[in-house]
Amino acid sequence: MTSNRFSIRQSDIDSSSVFIHGDEHHHLSNVARIRPKEKVWLFDEQGTRYLARVEEVTKAGTRLTILEKEGTTEPGVKITLAQAIIKSKRMNIILQQATELGASMIIPVITARTVVRIEGKAEKKLERWEKIVREAAKQCKCPFFPSILPPVSLKSLIEERQETLKLVLSENRGKYLRDILVRSSGSGREKEKPPSSVIILVGPEGGWTDEEEKTILSHGYEAVSLGKQILRAETAALSGLAMVSHFWNL
Ligand code: SAH
Repeated sequence: MTSNRFSIRQSDIDSSSVFIHGDEHHHLSNVARIRPKEKVWLFDEQGTRYLARVEEVTKAGTRLTILEKEGTTEPGVKITLAQAIIKSKRMNIILQQATELGASMIIPVITARTVVRIEGKAEKKLERWEKIVREAAKQCKCPFFPSILPPVSLKSLIEERQETLKLVLSENRGKYLRDILVRSSGSGREKEKPPSSVIILVGPEGGWTDEEEKTILSHGYEAVSLGKQILRAETAALSGLAMVSHFWNL
C-alpha cells in the first residue's frame, strides 16, 4: 500500500473527485512520479484522511477519485495562534513549528509595532505561508494542518474571535501559564474541564504598547507570563503553544 501522502483542502473536493494543483501536484507527478491508476493517501486541514486513486495527470494538475474516507483526527482543544507579524525568517519558523505543535489556526496580526509592511504583498505572503505549513505537516506526519487566515488588525482580531479561552502573552504582566494549565489537570473536584478552543495572542519584536494591552484585556483576554525574562516573539509563541498543546492535546 502506498505511503505517499499529499495535503489537500476540503475545498479541493467535489463529491468523490479531487483536483490537486500547484506544489502538491508537482510533488505527486514529478517527484513521486505517481501515474494514473495508482493509489495515494490525501489528508485535509481537518485531519481527515482519504485513500484516492489517480485518474488523470495533466500539466495543470492531477485528478483523483476518493475510494475511502477515514475519521477526522481533530485535536480535543482547537488552538489558534494569533501572531503579530514579525520579520519573515522568524515568522517562517513560527509557522513551521506551530504546525508541528498542533495549532489548528494561525492568524497574522498587524499591531502598532509590527515593522513588516505587507500591503500589496498579502496574497503572495499567504501562498508562501501556506506552503511552509503544508510541508511542515507532511514532514511531521501531522494528521491535520493549520488554516492560515489573511492578516488582520489587532482591533478586528480582538473584536471578532470567539475562542472559549483567550490568552495574551505579555512581557509586562500576567499570571504564569503553568497556573492556568494546572487548573484543568490533576484530580479532585476543583479540576476544570479544558476549554474547547483557545487563542494565544503574541506581540511583535517591539512588544505591546500599554494602550494595546489595555484594549486586549478589556476584550476578555487573560494576560499570561512565561517568566521574568524577555523572550523573542518566536520563543514565546512556540513555548506557549507547546505547553498548551502538551497539556490539552496529547
Ligand atoms: N521589545 C519588548 C519585548 C517584546 S517580545 C521588550 O523589550 O520589552 C515579543 C512578544 O513576545 C511580546 O509582545 C510577548 O507577546 C511575548 N513575550 C516575550 N517575553 C514574554 C514573557 N516573559 N512572557 C510572556 N510573553 C512574552
